Formats: sequence, C-alpha cells, structure tokens
Amino acid sequence: MAEVSVDAIAILQFMEDMLLEIPGESERIVIDRERCGHCGSCVSVCAPMAIVLLDTFVMVDHGICTGCLDCVYACPVGAIEGR
Ligand code: SF4
Ligand code: SF4
Repeated sequence: MAEVSVDAIAILQFMEDMLLEIPGESERIVIDRERCGHCGSCVSVCAPMAIVLLDTFVMVDHGICTGCLDCVYACPVGAIEGR
C-alpha cells in the first residue's frame, strides 16, 4: 500500500473536521491516532462502512456512523473512544 504523505494526512484531517460538522448519531466517536496500530479491526466490524483506513490514517465519517460502538469494542489497543 502506498505511503500517505504529510500533505495528504493534513487534507484527510481537514476532511474529517468538515465531516464532524455534519450532524450524525455519533459525533462522540473519537480515534486516538497516536495509539492506533492501523490493524483494520474497526473497519471490519463497521457495518455502514463509516471508517476509512488509509495506510496510517484512520477516520470516521460521522455522517453515516450509527453510533453502535462496535468499533470501540473491536479495537485491540483501546484507540477508539465513545464520548
Ligand atoms: S460506532 Fe458503529 S457505525 Fe460508528 S464508526 Fe463505530 S462501528 Fe462504525
Ligand atoms: S481497531 Fe484500533 S488500532 Fe485497529 S485500525 Fe482501528 S483504531 Fe486503529
């Protein structure tokens, strides 16, 4: 998989900030990217496919997230928090 550049990560961060502005069920899902090991477990359990993992960057589309918290329980390192 291609490495994501710093610029691309900045753009993705901007996109996530924009998505956070969209009213959804789960604005409380927060990912600690320092702790994330990019295993993809959260992506696998997310039924509406609201989580995107691009190389080392993981983000949640809060516009389609249902707030089920399955990703919180699936993360092996506790990097996802439901607030
Ligand atoms: S709370 Fe549920 S729907 Fe939202 S990102 Fe996590 S697994 Fe997906
Ligand atoms: S399950 Fe946790 S460690 Fe794995 S990609 Fe998702 S947030 Fe990162």
